Amino acid sequence: MRLKDQNALITGAGQGIGKDIALGMAREGAHVAVADINFETAKATAQEVKERGVQCIALKLDVSKQDEVISAFETFMKERGRLDILVNNAGITRDALIMRMKEDDWDAVININLKGTFLCSKEAVKIMVKQHHGKIISISSVVAFTGNPGQVNYSASKAGIAGFTKTIAKEYATRGIKVNAVAPGFIQTVMTEAIPEKVKEEMKKSIPLGYFGKPEDVANAVIFLASKEADYITGQVFHINGGMYM
Ligand code: NAP
Repeated sequence: MRLKDQNALITGAGQGIGKDIALGMAREGAHVAVADINFETAKATAQEVKERGVQCIALKLDVSKQDEVISAFETFMKERGRLDILVNNAGITRDALIMRMKEDDWDAVININLKGTFLCSKEAVKIMVKQHHGKIISISSVVAFTGNPGQVNYSASKAGIAGFTKTIAKEYATRGIKVNAVAPGFIQTVMTEAIPEKVKEEMKKSIPLGYFGKPEDVANAVIFLASKEADYITGQVFHINGGMYM
C-alpha cells in the first residue's frame, strides 16, 4: 500500500497505459480520478478501479481545452479535497513525414500532448502550492531523445515535456512539489497496435531486451515516482524502453 489514501488524477486513463496506472495506483491504496476525452471508457475503467476497494470518479476531459481542465480540477477538489498526484498521460499521434504533415496534425498533437500537460499541471500546481506537497508525473517518449521519422510533431511534443518537467521541478521544489517524467519505448497498446507486423519485427531488433514493453511496465515506474520512496527525486526523466535508448 505505497499510496494509501493518496488522491490521484490521471488523464487519458480510459484505456492503455493510463488505465494500468489507475488500476496500479488503486492496488497501492490511492483514490483515483479517471479523466478521459472518451467518457465511456473513463466510466468503465472507473468501475474496475472501484472494485479494488478505493474511491474513484470518472471525469470527461479534453486536456487541450482550458475551460474543461479548470472545471475537471474543480470537480475533483469538491469530491476529494486534496490532490496528491497528477499523471499527465493523455496523448495522441498523427504521423507523417514533415513534407506531408498537415498543420492540423501538428496542432492536434502539440495541443493535446504538450499544451494539455501545461494546462493540467498549471491547475495542479495552484492546488499543490497551497498544500506544500504534490507529485506531477508526465508521460514523454523515447522518440523525444532518439527522433523517429514520421513523428516530427509527436517527438517535438514529447521533448517539450522533458524541458517542461525540469523547469517546473525547479520553479516549485521549495514548495514541496516533485515533478518528473517517464519516457516509454515501444509499449503494446492501441496506440501501437496499428503498426504493421513487419515493421514491429524490425523494431524489436533495436531493443536489446528483444521484446516490447507492457503498460504495467510504465505504470510500475509511475507508481514508484508517486510513492514516498521517490521523495528525493525531482526534475528527472525515467527511461523505460528495454534498452532501446541508453
Ligand atoms: P492510448 O491507448 O491511445 O490511450 C490514450 C488515451 O488518451 C485514450 O483513452 C484516449 O482517448 C485519451 N485521449 C486522447 N486525446 C485526449 C484528450 N484530448 N484529452 C484526454 N484524453 C485524451 O495510448 P497509450 O499507448 O496508452 O499512451 C499513453 C501515453 O503514453 C501517451 O501520452 C503516449 O504518447 C505515451 N507513450 C506511449 C507509447 C506506446 O508505445 N504505447 C510509447 C511512449 C509514450 P481516445 O482513444 O478516445 O482518443
